[in-house]
Amino acid sequence: MYVKFALLACLLAFQQCSFSQQSKEKIKSMDTSKNPVFSRSSTDKVNLSEEEWKKILPADVYHIARQKGTERPWSSPFETSKEIGTYHCAACGNALFQSDTKFESGCGWPSFYQPISKTSIIYTPDNTHGMRRTEVQCGRCKAHLGHVFEDGPPPTGLRYCINGLILDFAKAKAAEKAYNEKNKEQ
Ligand SMILES: [Zn+2]
Repeated sequence: MYVKFALLACLLAFQQCSFSQQSKEKIKSMDTSKNPVFSRSSTDKVNLSEEEWKKILPADVYHIARQKGTERPWSSPFETSKEIGTYHCAACGNALFQSDTKFESGCGWPSFYQPISKTSIIYTPDNTHGMRRTEVQCGRCKAHLGHVFEDGPPPTGLRYCINGLILDFAKAKAAEKAYNEKNKEQ
């Protein structure tokens, strides 16, 4: 009997382990092989037609990026992620936020208090849905990211409330590795 319990406990532990691995899998970088404009280093502006975007973006990313969609709250693994690295635009690769400016706002979407640079983001007034909000868009490809509110923590007092689907995460270690390999080649 005791052995059976032990076996069951083992199985449960194994299952839990594979579950947590699954959720980590989700955080891995997205497949951008079909996206010719995706670049984590280029700063050239991207200007594509809606039709072209539709061809190269996954349907859920397209809905957020080009149709100003909003993902379900608490649906993004990035909301609670504490991994160290850089968050890029999932549509074009533009660097948007560093993980050290991310905070838990409890609003259900990944939240940051400061973008990576002044030009990484575009601000547009948004008066839809009977609210006065400020929309934030990617500074390189104008993808809809989310909104910015003035109830964030110091030092900025801002809360950039961003759809996780439009974020592509680059782990600090992966970036370091790529940098070292590039230097080796030279
Ligand atoms: Zn972009």
